[in-house]
Amino acid sequence: MINFEYIRASSVKAAVEALAKNPTGGFIAGGTNLIDLMKRGVTAPTRLIDINNLPLKQVEETSAGLHIGALAINSEVSANDLVKNNYPLLSMAFAAGASAQLRNMATVGGNMMQKTRCSYFYDTAMPCNKRQPGSGCGALQGHNRMHAIFGASDKCIAVHPSDMCVALAALNATVTVSGPKGERKILFTDFHRLPGDKPELDNTLQKGEIITGVIIPKNTFNKNHYLKIRDRASYAFALISVAAALEVSGDTIKKASLAMGGVAHKPWRLTEAEKFLVGKTATKENFSKAADLAIKGAKGYGHNNFKLKMAPIAIVEALMIATGIA
Ligand code: SF4
Repeated sequence: MINFEYIRASSVKAAVEALAKNPTGGFIAGGTNLIDLMKRGVTAPTRLIDINNLPLKQVEETSAGLHIGALAINSEVSANDLVKNNYPLLSMAFAAGASAQLRNMATVGGNMMQKTRCSYFYDTAMPCNKRQPGSGCGALQGHNRMHAIFGASDKCIAVHPSDMCVALAALNATVTVSGPKGERKILFTDFHRLPGDKPELDNTLQKGEIITGVIIPKNTFNKNHYLKIRDRASYAFALISVAAALEVSGDTIKKASLAMGGVAHKPWRLTEAEKFLVGKTATKENFSKAADLAIKGAKGYGHNNFKLKMAPIAIVEALMIATGIA
């Protein structure tokens, strides 16, 4: 590991200022991904700013909805009664992530900032446009079983690995950030970005900004399910995941919100499927039609072609379980 400076910040302002003084530094909270990246030489921040003492651990309901601080611990948010009872989709997604040990260390902000698990990104002997822009993409012609079927580019076909973020995208969350120019809010669906010509950029944070929390609007979805399909029952990233949230009255779907994980460089909202479902009855037939709409435009890269068949099945399954039809 390369030497780095370590300091602790006692306020958000101090953390932002500490990064401004050393732009090649970075923030550390749980460190569950960052330390791996540093050990492997994928990243080498010259200054680590420990933000664990910042007052950003709250999980509380306000008039704007559920407010979760960026330093709230994943396992604690998942087990929080408020979250379990009023935002069950989020609780399920948290519980599906990583392993118990990792969930006990990982923070909400860190979860959002985690890097892709593309194996070429972690192998510094291989080309990777995300790690080293312009070097090429090892996965395009390589082993790409875990990779994207939506929104990829000829520069990068990686996927975002989080479960929590898929649920937050479906729940229409907003990210709050603070930086040298003050505070601002970013729609969760605009926080992560597609690779395009700049796969080295994972999100839309501006230079020097820090995530302070997320706000989820009051939940009116009464049918929820987070389905994660993976190679092992625990400690495995999603081949495909589906966050399904419906507001159903009688048999009629009043509101639908769907997002997928393991399929794109960001949580992938299924907007056409959502539009189709509103006003329809909750039946397997309608779920199948919605899934067919959702999969339009998907593209496989060889080893991951199985996702093209798996995705619509997963969407239908998640909706069936959410509505109790299964
Ligand atoms: Fe790198 Fe993206 Fe290609 Fe993976 S898919 S090797 S992260 S450029």
